[in-house]
Amino acid sequence: MWTELLPVGRSSASGGYRRFAWTAADAECRAWFEEQARARGLACEVDRNGNQWAWLGDPAAGNAVVTGSHLDSVPDGGAFDGPLGVVSAFAALDELRGRGVRFTRPLGVVNFGDEEGARFGLACVGSRLTAGKLTAEQAHRLTDRDGISLPRAMEAAGHDPEAIGPDPERLARIGAFVELHVEQGRALDELGHAVGVASAIWPHGRWRFDFRGEANHAGTTRLTDRHDPMLPYAETVLAARREAERAGAVATFGKVAVEPNGVNAIPSLVRGWLDARAADQDVLDTVVGGIEQAARKGADGHGVTLDVVRESFTPVARFDHALRDDLVRILARTDGPDVPVLGTGAGHDAGILSASIPTAMLFVRNPTGVSHSPAESATEDDCLAGVRALADVLEGLACR
Ligand SMILES: [Zn+2]
Repeated sequence: MWTELLPVGRSSASGGYRRFAWTAADAECRAWFEEQARARGLACEVDRNGNQWAWLGDPAAGNAVVTGSHLDSVPDGGAFDGPLGVVSAFAALDELRGRGVRFTRPLGVVNFGDEEGARFGLACVGSRLTAGKLTAEQAHRLTDRDGISLPRAMEAAGHDPEAIGPDPERLARIGAFVELHVEQGRALDELGHAVGVASAIWPHGRWRFDFRGEANHAGTTRLTDRHDPMLPYAETVLAARREAERAGAVATFGKVAVEPNGVNAIPSLVRGWLDARAADQDVLDTVVGGIEQAARKGADGHGVTLDVVRESFTPVARFDHALRDDLVRILARTDGPDVPVLGTGAGHDAGILSASIPTAMLFVRNPTGVSHSPAESATEDDCLAGVRALADVLEGLACR
């Protein structure tokens, strides 16, 4: 399975993956999913929001156990983020059939559409729509960088965009969703474990900082006469690092736009985007508040104005405690009593669905911690340990 999927959407220039929603590469991934499902005698369907499902047993019976992840990627992403969860889902089913178990609940494998949001700028579109966290009207307004709207892109890929919207009946049939994912950090490596269980997804958000000053000549304007917005912006970037370090959080200015963006011009506008995440809401508020305070102080000091706009926010997603404890107990039978339970700063479909249905996540060790990059990795042994862990979990949940 891994070998078949490996060349799909891979850039020969970067070695990274460009599997964006509703593109040819996405269609290839979907065809692969359907082929895998059919080869195992599973019933395949695509829901109103473009998510792909493969079923063993009748989901209408209810209380289904579902596993899976996503097959799309960020620009020049790695091979593991997403696909590891889908490949492991099919492999775990093979493992369970090899064990000769009898399923007492319907079992589903899912490929959620447009998880990374690389094309339309919003992550987890498939699961958000399904859970009613994104309205059809909002989704219809999403456009890619070429001005192609999400509905047009869906239509071009053969999917009816008029059908999109909340799908509570589908969610009501699911008793548990377990997503396996490569870890996007080095916690498991430091703990010396191949597999861990998720506790929560940190609250996170994006803020836009607009520093407005005065454009002028870089050669003739005396330093004392300047209103240079680059200076408070630079102080704000350093403050973000300082505040995050102090609080045990993360804060990043990863995108910046400068006007007029000339080498010999003092800028008139510096617009920076802050991504900040922390273990809980209070800590995040403190970090962002501290960064904003430093930005205002810097702006005042340089005769520059500042506007701060919160562009998006996702509150903490706590995974179902009972299901999490089930996973820990099942893993402990093989891995011993100290199964790692980890929080994460990355968003996932499982986090989106956690407000609607019981969800849980398994993480597989990533020795470098690198993610959203071609350098993302996991050893074959650890991937197999992940499959075994997922099979144990599914057996524990669906074969009682
Ligand atoms: Zn992912």
